[in-house]
Amino acid sequence: MNNISENIDKITQKMKAAAVRAGRNEDDVILVAVSKTKPVEDLMEAYNHGVRDFGENYVNELTDKIEKMPKDIRWHMIGHLQTNKVKYLAGKVFMIHSVDSVKLAKEISKESVKKDIVTKILCEINVAGEESKFGTSDLDANLEMIKEIAPLPGIELCGLMTIAPYTPDAESNRQYFKTLHDFAYGRAREYIKGEPVLSMGMSGDYEVATEEGASYIRVGSSIFGERVYNK
Ligand SMILES: *Cc1c(COP(=O)(O)O)cnc(C)c1O
Repeated sequence: MNNISENIDKITQKMKAAAVRAGRNEDDVILVAVSKTKPVEDLMEAYNHGVRDFGENYVNELTDKIEKMPKDIRWHMIGHLQTNKVKYLAGKVFMIHSVDSVKLAKEISKESVKKDIVTKILCEINVAGEESKFGTSDLDANLEMIKEIAPLPGIELCGLMTIAPYTPDAESNRQYFKTLHDFAYGRAREYIKGEPVLSMGMSGDYEVATEEGASYIRVGSSIFGERVYNK
């Protein structure tokens, strides 16, 4: 039995407290409920408890849930995205967090122009340089990617996203959140539209990420329970 509503309350409280601790406004950070692999009933419980931002990783699952869930949800695509799937997403999601190549950005741009829309995106930066993840930790290379992506038509580069290493010691990820923050407000700043959006922090480290300036924290298992993968 998961107490989804209780979990949301607990996480929201801790998130807001972390923001205030860091001298931020408690409303400047938003909880994205990461619902991959979870049934629509679980999402509805979160929705009925006030959640309007949901994160999903797989295009088929995401488009299926969009059909079944209320229309005022902001859907966040946070999983690795293949270029051939972009056409199914464009126009349906609030933001794509996981743009990790110029090639992918160009495809999003193309599909958005075709549909006469503007898609909000974040560039995913592998700050910790983990080999199991997409992208590179080389900030020069990331800046080159950002420079090419920012002027593309049909997209709006709103900020940056990172997935920090899985660790029982959240403090050890602080350096990565700091790096993402400083990069967004430093060398990457002029290519980002408006106040930079920072998508960082998951179940294990969202408080530290919030202290370091997260705009969106992406929390799954602490809300919905552990995931069982059977596909
Ligand atoms: C699954 C996932 C999350 C949520 O992870 P939890 O540890 O369950 O909170 C966040 N971000 C991304 C990119 C994910 O794939």
